[in-house]
Amino acid sequence: MSTNRTFTMIKPDAVENGHIGAILEKITASGFKIVAMKYTQLSLRDAQEFYGIHRERPFFGELVEFMTRGPIVAAILEKENAVEDFRALIGATNPAEAAEGTIRKLFATDIAENAVHGSDSDENAAIEGAFHFSGREIY
Ligand code: GDP
Ligand code: MG
Repeated sequence: MSTNRTFTMIKPDAVENGHIGAILEKITASGFKIVAMKYTQLSLRDAQEFYGIHRERPFFGELVEFMTRGPIVAAILEKENAVEDFRALIGATNPAEAAEGTIRKLFATDIAENAVHGSDSDENAAIEGAFHFSGREIY
């Protein structure tokens, strides 16, 4: 995957709350092109592997339970400076600290159920995109 791509998930809380359309609208209106997308649900093993870096954190069990409790939208997005620009668009992890107009400020519930994921580096964007999509699913 080239470095002008990032990976996102619309998390179970935002799906449950009916925000898929509004979030995708914000993403595309902000100049991101969707190059892969699917509606799916993570298994326990999927979530444990995807969030493996957080295994030792006290909230790991809660995070895995949350991320597996319902469907998500997974997508690969393309834009110049995708990783950094998308982190700016989603806002801080804790929506209480997220800037006005960011996706988490608008749609997140709290620091745990924070509506969206965004890769934090080009390297992780490539790993996370490949975790969810085969080459034939990326356009
Ligand atoms: P992100 O990169 O902004 O998504 O934040 P992190 O990588 O630090 O954490 C990954 C995810 O774990 C967050 O997006 C939240 O869904 C969840 N999370 C982070 N901090 C907490 C916390 O203190 N409690 C719980 N329950 N979940 C958290
Ligand atoms: Mg992170």
